[in-house]
Amino acid sequence: MTIEVAINDQLVTAFDGQPIVLAAAAAGIEIPTLCWHPDLSVVGSCRLCAVEVEGMHGPVMACSTATTAGMIIRTETPDLIEERREILEMLLADYDDRGHQGTERAETQFDRWCRHYDVRRPDRSTLTPRFPVDSDPNPFVRVDFNQCILCTCCVRACEEVQGRFVWAVAGRGRATRIIAGADTTMLDARCESCGACAAYCPTGALDDRPGFGLGVPDHVVTTTCAYCGVGCQFDLNVKEDRVLRVTSNPQAPVNGLSLCVKGRYGHEFVHHGDRLTRPRVRQYLLDGSPRSADGSRGPWCEVEWEYALDLVADKFSGIHLGSGSDSLAFCSSAKCSNEENYLVQKLARQVFGTHNVDHCARLCHSSTVSGLTMSFGSGAMTNSMDDVAAHAQALFIIGSNTTEQHPVFGAMLRQAVLQRGIPLIVADPRRIDIAEHARVHLRHQPGTDVALINGLMYLVLEEHGEDRAFIETRCENFETFCNGIAKYDPDYVSRITGVAPELLRQTAEIIASHRPMAVIWAMGITQHTTGVMNVLALANLQMLLGNLGVPGGGVNPLRGQNNVQGACDMGTLPNFFPGYQSVTDPAVKARFAQAWELKDGRGIPIRDQPGLTVTEMIEAASVGRIRGLYILGENPVLTDPDSNHVRRCLQNAEFVVLQEIFPSATSEYADVLLPGTSFAERDGTFTNTERRVQRFRQAIPPIGESRPDWQIIAELARSVLSRQGRRPLGPLAGWDYQSPSEIMEEIAAVTPQYRGVSYVRIERGDRLQWPVTGLNHTGTPILHVDQFPRGKGRFHAVDHLPPHELPDEEFPLLLTTGRVLYHWHGGEMTRRVAGLLEIFGDSLLEISPEDASKHGIQDAEPLLVVSRRGRMQARAIVTPRVGAGIVFGTFHFPGEQNVNNLTIAALDPVSKIPEYKVCAVRLETVANAAFALA
Ligand code: SF4
Repeated sequence: MTIEVAINDQLVTAFDGQPIVLAAAAAGIEIPTLCWHPDLSVVGSCRLCAVEVEGMHGPVMACSTATTAGMIIRTETPDLIEERREILEMLLADYDDRGHQGTERAETQFDRWCRHYDVRRPDRSTLTPRFPVDSDPNPFVRVDFNQCILCTCCVRACEEVQGRFVWAVAGRGRATRIIAGADTTMLDARCESCGACAAYCPTGALDDRPGFGLGVPDHVVTTTCAYCGVGCQFDLNVKEDRVLRVTSNPQAPVNGLSLCVKGRYGHEFVHHGDRLTRPRVRQYLLDGSPRSADGSRGPWCEVEWEYALDLVADKFSGIHLGSGSDSLAFCSSAKCSNEENYLVQKLARQVFGTHNVDHCARLCHSSTVSGLTMSFGSGAMTNSMDDVAAHAQALFIIGSNTTEQHPVFGAMLRQAVLQRGIPLIVADPRRIDIAEHARVHLRHQPGTDVALINGLMYLVLEEHGEDRAFIETRCENFETFCNGIAKYDPDYVSRITGVAPELLRQTAEIIASHRPMAVIWAMGITQHTTGVMNVLALANLQMLLGNLGVPGGGVNPLRGQNNVQGACDMGTLPNFFPGYQSVTDPAVKARFAQAWELKDGRGIPIRDQPGLTVTEMIEAASVGRIRGLYILGENPVLTDPDSNHVRRCLQNAEFVVLQEIFPSATSEYADVLLPGTSFAERDGTFTNTERRVQRFRQAIPPIGESRPDWQIIAELARSVLSRQGRRPLGPLAGWDYQSPSEIMEEIAAVTPQYRGVSYVRIERGDRLQWPVTGLNHTGTPILHVDQFPRGKGRFHAVDHLPPHELPDEEFPLLLTTGRVLYHWHGGEMTRRVAGLLEIFGDSLLEISPEDASKHGIQDAEPLLVVSRRGRMQARAIVTPRVGAGIVFGTFHFPGEQNVNNLTIAALDPVSKIPEYKVCAVRLETVANAAFALA
């Protein structure tokens, strides 16, 4: 209910009961605060926000006093000002920021109020610092408690935003102080280095270490994180064309002030000396000599852009002419923008006439897209992250290490459990961090998800916990589904999964009695030869429970890279034009033919069958079926399964162009290297995991002679078309884009889900989650509210199938793979951030205490891990996070430390996603530690 109050003689509308500080802020009246923040619980300890209210005895705290109708409030009377001056003087008596002397830093909140009330710092030259300056070795957060005023914002931020409990208050009276854990280091207190404590600290006692002493920015640019699909936004602080630091932006729609360690501190790579700054071509291409007989490419030579692009245009045009459209293939990237991905598929389809275009979603969520499309007619996450965190009555996280891979969303889920007390079910073979908060942790065997989910549904049906009304009105094929799971009784499921029948019953009871429940998954579900079946089983579960089309429910696959969702939406897929419009649909083909028509009458592929997937392209390149391969922003040698095989394929490939920001394991096999730009050097949009289209913005000029990726692709297209004497005819056939916003206009014209998306709307603050069906449409935070895109949701009967390769006598351990909090995918960016390497600098292999003892392996010992396909070096972490018989490795480090030397390229038959999550290995200790890790 709204009420009216008077603040400083101004009539203000407020909500009844709203704290005075918020009612004033809404009216543009700022009341000074230090210990208060709208995100944190109220402690009222600094008393700076005291105001006068007529009829109340003495000043009252604006942070904790509720407004009531007719209240008359004064915020700046002479008495209040005097009281504030006294408070600030008292705080300054102990405040000692000599640790900052000689450095230029931005004004803190505390500095600002001291300046505002003209309170000067006392002479402290004779003071002895109360605490060591820079007292914690954390590489990202600089700690100087001489500047602490005991507002406890850090304690509350860690607890209430991050859910991590690193900081605590110790001692009493004058000896009161803030400590990490039980007076240990931050990292020992299980700090995740998210920097929330520093972001909420009003004095600079906790500060960003990497940006410390680098001065004050000359401008800040609001942009979107280039790491994961959560899509956090923040401000890049820039001085003299260098990114100094990242600061939180409270207006960020997804994350507010929260960021994870990569988002807040992982930007150092932008200025790393390894950056590619000029185009390179191989010497043999310059002097016309044949490539060496062993397939190696020889030395690089730096060349001018014009030369490099002419060379690529000549080569691709020649191959196109000589061997046809389908002898070329284009591998795009989920790291790149919507606009760039749109252009890559347009280049492939319009200019070269092939559907051989795909990107790395093939390796992470292609099974999600296939499975959900079969069930509902749409492959996207149905709900929004804030909706799940606020409204779900239960959470079922399966195959997602959410707090490490999607950390800000992980923290939101942790808070949902801690603050709302909702039950959390975690199904994961590893005891991942978020399992600490789970009511039930199901540690099923890797590769047994279908059996587990079927078993839970069997029990829901046994107890009549299904939503009959939803099933009857919204779904089809229910009987076939029921027949399919009739055999999945708890004993049968327990034998397959290793989960006790009693635990299955307990879980089924929770999911049947807490609705809506949100299901959340990631690559633990998708990267299996049964990836599509796993997704179908989860779709069945949510239809069975009626948890679709409602707040707090839904199927919520978390996209890995920042723009996996957008790259799929843009049609960098071999079977879809933009907007998931099938390449086999004649009407769709006719529409694109008209839009992209060239003067010669051609303009889109002759063939109307899907093209090759990423893994198929690389295979085809080794046998000459693909003669020209264009790779944008990806490193398949590191990230595809069975790396040795990928190397052999690329070694044999005739002509490989790589557009990248760093040299990589894949660049060894490239013939031309084109230097693209990082997210800080160009404009565009990313679409996050919840279908939200967001801007990222140029903050600095391109490094060296690197160019924005969209410009490179457009230039290449123009060059090829002019070589071939072909000119645009259709309304959207041209390539003369002046900016990414023009490309977005074209995307909106051909992509139904993006019809109402424009840069103008995003800039004015419209928060657009697709489908956005027109310029007046406000977007769709929850999908499938009234009906599914395919009409009725379809139940599928899916049966458990074992993984392709299980342990045996020769290879007795089951290897599963994934990522860690401190690195990102192939690590091209995070391995170029010193602090991240300091915390996590080697490939690690988690092994259970039982297996370590059986194999005589000590913690931190270097190991050799061997599979049928290759070997990998790693350092052992002996930990109960993994169960007996299972080891876990990561793919963040190249060469001998890459776990993909071991993984298997067995594919899901429908989505063609590889089975990264299960293969068989054996361990060898290294008697001679010559190879030992750094
Ligand atoms: Fe970036 Fe994801 Fe971390 Fe957010 S959670 S800061 S998007 S890596």
